[in-house]
Amino acid sequence: MDYPGNLFVVSAPSGAGKSSLVKALLELDSHVQPSVSHTTRAPRGQEKHGREYFFASEQEFDAMVAANGFVEWANVHGRRYGTSRKVIEERVAQGADVVLEIDFQGALQIKQAFANAVLVFVLPPSWDELRARLERRGEDAPDVIDLRLENAAEEMAQASKFDFVIINEVFERALFDLKTIVHAQRLKYAAQRRARAETFESLNIP
Ligand code: 5GP
Repeated sequence: MDYPGNLFVVSAPSGAGKSSLVKALLELDSHVQPSVSHTTRAPRGQEKHGREYFFASEQEFDAMVAANGFVEWANVHGRRYGTSRKVIEERVAQGADVVLEIDFQGALQIKQAFANAVLVFVLPPSWDELRARLERRGEDAPDVIDLRLENAAEEMAQASKFDFVIINEVFERALFDLKTIVHAQRLKYAAQRRARAETFESLNIP
């Protein structure tokens, strides 16, 4: 499928800092839009329906799966998460750049549906640092942290299937890397040809 917008998919094990990076990118770059996923998990803390997620019952999620309403969906830590097909297709068709913050299973499904999607994997600098970040976050009990680290090993083994890797050691550096990936994508021939059609035409470039 050809479309004018870019699709960026960011995956990482929990604790690698993916959410903070994406949040900072969205604040800096108004042309990038977030995608709000559907999930069967319950809201946490201050989360609001339609902002962090569309919170759905198991039945509602089943109905969307049956109606082919998800461009990708996956089971993550025992809960289901999915990206609405309609929303993504409409946004990229309008030329928006959309960033999806989803797990690696979903990322690989997105690549199947949108061959030009750019897959970015965020890694922590080391195991020790990953554990330290999960502990500092203070959200999880020690046994949950152990489970997250076990899952992280499986998730990070998928990094080779991604187009780009960011090692999040120093936040500002990692953010620069993410911005660079977005920027490079916008400089590709097809993207420039669309965005600067008049310039190309005046220069007689096909
Ligand atoms: P959390 O419940 O902590 O918000 O998210 C748990 C995991 O689910 C994270 O790795 C997050 O990236 C992933 N996730 C969130 N939305 C989606 C989605 O729409 N599809 C998939 N495949 N994963 C998602």
